[in-house]
Amino acid sequence: MKVYKFGGASVRNADGVRNLRQIIDDEQHLFIIVSAMGKTTNALEKVFEGLQKGDRQQSLEHIGQLRQYHAEIINDLWHESKRLERVETLFQELEQVATQTLYRPEDAELWYDTIVAYGELVSTTIISEYLNYAGVPNRWIDMRRCFVTEQRHKDAGVDIAASTPLLRKAVAGGPETIFIGQGFIGGAPDGTTTTLGREGSDYSAAVAANILDAESMSVWKDVDGVLNADPKIFPDAVQIAELNYLDTIELAYSGAQIIHPKTIKPLQNKNIPLYVRPFGDKRKPGTVIRGMSVPVDVPILILKKDQVLLTIRSRDFSFVLEEKFATIFSLLERFRIKTNLIHNSAVNLSLCVDNSWHIDEVVKALRESGFDVMTTREMELLTVRGYTDDLWRRYARGPQVFIRQATQSTVRVVRKKQGQY
Ligand code: ASP
Ligand code: MG
Repeated sequence: MKVYKFGGASVRNADGVRNLRQIIDDEQHLFIIVSAMGKTTNALEKVFEGLQKGDRQQSLEHIGQLRQYHAEIINDLWHESKRLERVETLFQELEQVATQTLYRPEDAELWYDTIVAYGELVSTTIISEYLNYAGVPNRWIDMRRCFVTEQRHKDAGVDIAASTPLLRKAVAGGPETIFIGQGFIGGAPDGTTTTLGREGSDYSAAVAANILDAESMSVWKDVDGVLNADPKIFPDAVQIAELNYLDTIELAYSGAQIIHPKTIKPLQNKNIPLYVRPFGDKRKPGTVIRGMSVPVDVPILILKKDQVLLTIRSRDFSFVLEEKFATIFSLLERFRIKTNLIHNSAVNLSLCVDNSWHIDEVVKALRESGFDVMTTREMELLTVRGYTDDLWRRYARGPQVFIRQATQSTVRVVRKKQGQY
């Protein structure tokens, strides 16, 4: 079995779906993981926001737009005005959840997951039906029933041991050799829907590859492969032919949007190679990620946007703030705040964290626990691996730099958000 993953951008319109069909031509024994089409997940977040604010109109408006968007793709694929019963049913369910739920703030994350999961349910339903119609028999797999996740919402991990028998059974028997499953979603032990974190479909594909002992996993993307920098931000980005798992994990954590950070481990555990390939041209080699690879010989630049700098100081002026680290980090964990860089002096602990809904709450909790906290918003974290003198001068100096941490090969800079690079 091979695992293919198609992200939202690759199936954002009917041409994308037809292209998927082209790419899988002649393939058999394929497990295909698909994300929500285009920007659907963002729109579903707005649907959820409507529920959260008690603004039904907002929810219904976004559901209406999503219906329309998907209907256009369906009509284009079937070359006629076409109704897919199963898609209709999904939209009806979504509308019910969004408008008839008795919402309580403590269940925010549960309803978030329940709502945003519809993006993948709808995309895989359309694609599965289209492939059947286009002469590619396949089986639609409900990943909510195959991936048992932790009992936590919005960023759940998959319990591989518990999921193995379920997913293997789902692909066993029957004549089909092509399977279509949703990325990004699973089911908690209590039966509710969970999601695996934004952009989590890569991770879904990796877990499926692990469980099915796949010979390889391929992610089909709108770039030629893994580049050394985001070409939209840094001009002169170049492609990297090969990377090893460890470098890839480092890159993913520093914000390179090549692959979700949780993707590598399930592949590494079974030594499954990961190909990052351009969906526009399946003859191009892309980038291969595996255990052993040639060393990378170009600098790598990664920018993580939307960061907040928290500067924390103990109110009793204790000079051994280290003793309080456990308290601080457990509060961050409680509010699911992701820390990307830690910098400490005798009296200060500076943390560069992802912006989130919960920043204000964690700051309040820290203050209640006896800390002074200063928040600086609109920050970004730039990592340069394999820096040169020139790159150092360009990016690691100047008044916009708040914190700089360097090793012999890598420098990480917390700085004020920049408009240009
Ligand atoms: N559709 C989800 C998202 O946009 C998951 C994914 O694309 O991987 O975050
Ligand atoms: Mg997506």
